[in-house]
Amino acid sequence: MSRILVTGGAGFIGSHLCERFLGDGHEVIAVDNLLTGDRDNIAHLFENPAFSFLQQDITNYIYVSGPLDAILHFASPASPVDYLELPIQTLKVGSLGTHKALGLAKEKGARILVASTSEVYGDPLVHPQEESYWGNVNPVGPRGVYDEAKRFMEAMTMAYRRSHGVNTAIARIFNTYGPRMRMRDGRVVPNFMCQALKDEPITVYGDGSQTRSFCFVSDLVEGLTRLLWSDEADPVNVGNPNEMTILQFAEKIIALSGSGSQIEYRPLPEDDPQVRQPDITKAKAVLGWEPQVSLDEGLAKTISYFKQKLGVAG
Ligand code: UDP
Repeated sequence: MSRILVTGGAGFIGSHLCERFLGDGHEVIAVDNLLTGDRDNIAHLFENPAFSFLQQDITNYIYVSGPLDAILHFASPASPVDYLELPIQTLKVGSLGTHKALGLAKEKGARILVASTSEVYGDPLVHPQEESYWGNVNPVGPRGVYDEAKRFMEAMTMAYRRSHGVNTAIARIFNTYGPRMRMRDGRVVPNFMCQALKDEPITVYGDGSQTRSFCFVSDLVEGLTRLLWSDEADPVNVGNPNEMTILQFAEKIIALSGSGSQIEYRPLPEDDPQVRQPDITKAKAVLGWEPQVSLDEGLAKTISYFKQKLGVAG
């Protein structure tokens, strides 16, 4: 049994990680300042004596008593709408928060896995994206606050490994969806699903020809768990290579939810990446991992979750 700390533990992915590690028999401490995280995501875990929650802003200091075997650093606003609204907090948690998390890992002798992102590739000029690609990021654009914070995170993580011998791992997470995404976080999955379930127009940005590749959260968590317990040091893409256009994705959600919604086109946000698809050759080779959940199955589970949240029957 290990003692594991999850920063951003009340968030979408963080809460699923807490659940997974508790299920595997570990002790889990979730830390979250609840800026974009939600206590409801972890409410069902409080009755487990192996679970505890600390409401703390990790950009100041992370105080945890006792030993730690592993840290998963997942605290950050994670949707383009959130990091446009919270640009400084996004930069601070990716830089100062990462520094604190790495310092804690050094102090406790813990392995630390940091949540990096496909956004380090920016609007990629290489497709699909493999880990050796350095990316195409606009540092001064509106998304730069997230992209550069995560790039700094990776650099700081490697510096702690090289200079202090900290046992580090870097996951580059691609678009992930599933229950506990925030209804109003502005990302495409909650937006389209809530719009479809309310028979409101589906807001496709641009002409919908931009692509994304969507991974169900349980697949992601399996990949992250394998990465944590491996000794891999270099960044590993974790995502589902099943690529589609946003227009195709809108049509799929309309069909799966049995909605009467029509598509409505809106302006494309600045620096919105045109394409995105992970090359997961490395994850397959190093972790023996690849996604198992089909898009239809994952979307059906997520639609049920939003139905319940919205109080829609069925
Ligand atoms: N998008 C859209 N309509 C929405 C929300 C998002 O067409 O209501 C598009 C967005 O422009 C992007 C893609 O869907 O091309 C994925 O956006 P999201 O905010 O989920 O995350 P991103 O992958 O851009 O980080």
